[in-house]
Amino acid sequence: MTSNPDCLFCKITAGDIDADIIHQTDQVVGFRDLNPQAPTHVLIVPRRHIPTINDIAESDAAVIGQLFVAAKEIAAEEGLSEPGYRVIMNCNAGAGQTVFHVHLHLLGGRPFTWPPG
Ligand code: 5GP
Ligand code: ZN
Repeated sequence: MTSNPDCLFCKITAGDIDADIIHQTDQVVGFRDLNPQAPTHVLIVPRRHIPTINDIAESDAAVIGQLFVAAKEIAAEEGLSEPGYRVIMNCNAGAGQTVFHVHLHLLGGRPFTWPPG
């Protein structure tokens, strides 16, 4: 499915719901998280609607790779390349996924611990 009319992140990528969009290509969009968990907290999403990692098809491989290309570029713009940053993608409710359109969290600007909570 290319787009889901009931999906929050499809509405954001379409411009139907406002977000602080800081990065856009033909395939992916990056915008600041509404409830940031670090000084930099950006969500990077494919324009194509893919609900979870479990739904990623072989034909989605290029766009999923573009999420990481965008993460690297945004991290550089935010001054995070050298200090470091974390990227996270939650899959399904047990891992904390609440919006069912895949998104890479880019977090930086503070120290992180391991393992995550
Ligand atoms: P998840 O828990 O699915 O991995 O991440 C969903 C993220 O979306 C959360 O960090 C949450 O704060 C963020 N979020 C939820 N609704 C909105 C919204 O309307 N706008 C923006 N910018 N972020 C949102
Ligand atoms: Zn969607």
